[in-house]
Amino acid sequence: MNQNLISTSEAINKLIQEFNKLPGIGPKSAQRLTYYLLRAPEEQARLLADAILSVKQKITLCSICFNVTESAPCLICGSDERDRSKICIVEQPQDILALEHTRVYNGRYHVLHGAISPTEGIGADDIRIKELMNRLQGSSVDEVILATNPNLEGEATAMYLNRLISPLGIRVTRLARGLPFGTELEYADDVTLTRAIEGRQEF
Ligand SMILES: [Zn+2]
Repeated sequence: MNQNLISTSEAINKLIQEFNKLPGIGPKSAQRLTYYLLRAPEEQARLLADAILSVKQKITLCSICFNVTESAPCLICGSDERDRSKICIVEQPQDILALEHTRVYNGRYHVLHGAISPTEGIGADDIRIKELMNRLQGSSVDEVILATNPNLEGEATAMYLNRLISPLGIRVTRLARGLPFGTELEYADDVTLTRAIEGRQEF
């Protein structure tokens, strides 16, 4: 850590270090958050600490779609309102949040928890592909929407899945190319994401 960020308090340094481990939080932000909490009421710090522990203790993965959930199955898999003939494949649970926010998709999901990446040594067996194939066997699913990220890993994963799923006689679609290459779904704006879902094409 940058030398000028070290305070004389061990407790303060510890919190700065912990914040600094989080994605998107650099040393300066870690320091700002720490000093903000120092000034905040103790109750606010307690609520934050409780909320962090609570997600670790209460959240599990849905046994059907592998989304993060407090209930088993998750609210989407358990809902009678959702179209069971469609499954949208995403890389991460937070991608579901982004897609749900558009309100244009009413099917179910499957979370891979990653993407195939030879450079990082992540193969098909390292993500939830086997579980997806088990789910599709003998199911009433007639369309699988490949909503992996529009980057190299996401494309490689989509191509791999298309080869596995097409022979089952299930329609395979991919989000339209309205999404700029190299971005992640999580950060796409609603309009772009809406167009991408509505304009999905045969893979
Ligand atoms: Zn689920």
